[in-house]
Amino acid sequence: MSLCYPDNGSVSCGSCCGVFNLNLTRKEITLLLFQRTEEFQNTVDFKISHSLPAYRQSREAKEKQISKKDESTYNCPFLGYLDGGYKMGCMIHPSRTGNPLSQNYSFYGSSICLGYQCRNRENPDSAQWKSVFQELSSNSLDYSQLAANHEITTCLELLFTKLKYPKDWLFGKHREFVLGFLHEYLRFRGIADQRTSFEIVSLETETAESLIKKLSKFLKKNSPSLNWLENLIT
Ligand code: SF4
Repeated sequence: MSLCYPDNGSVSCGSCCGVFNLNLTRKEITLLLFQRTEEFQNTVDFKISHSLPAYRQSREAKEKQISKKDESTYNCPFLGYLDGGYKMGCMIHPSRTGNPLSQNYSFYGSSICLGYQCRNRENPDSAQWKSVFQELSSNSLDYSQLAANHEITTCLELLFTKLKYPKDWLFGKHREFVLGFLHEYLRFRGIADQRTSFEIVSLETETAESLIKKLSKFLKKNSPSLNWLENLIT
């Protein structure tokens, strides 16, 4: 059961596959994923190997005109909706194709697709964070916004360290606060700010103070109801 694709529930994260690199609204992203899924289901047969590159070529041509946030970041057309629901996922993942190397049909290739771990997935408490994110997300877009955002988790963890609270209070004693904060965050943070893909991040350059400053600025601007926290951390 991973942070990216939880076994239970109806939400998942597709952030690292590039769909959020496209300048699209939430509605347009949903439509695009449906269109990909439909075309994939109608044209790809895992037993006919050339159907996979043909699908990729067709989608790349269709999606070429969509402007990107970062021109150098690829958006992989194999990200779609799986299992007839609204969970985003890799349509050529080995668990679906039965071929351990099937993601070699993609631009990134199997080793990157299977090997990449975002910072939140690497987090030793990723299972706990996953359950918090699931509780808050009514769809995969919300879940992706939370699951891929290592700054927000780091920030909250640093805040609790600063307050000398045990880390497990994030998920237990102060869970309601964490849920409230992330709820506010989702309300004010747009999909346009979402991470774009397999990103190399340099969190090491951020200090606890600078992250907490960001949190405080965010609260001041967007969440008057959480102003008490701002006083606590500054
Ligand atoms: S092939 Fe790789 S980049 Fe494309 S959807 Fe699958 S995991 Fe994501």
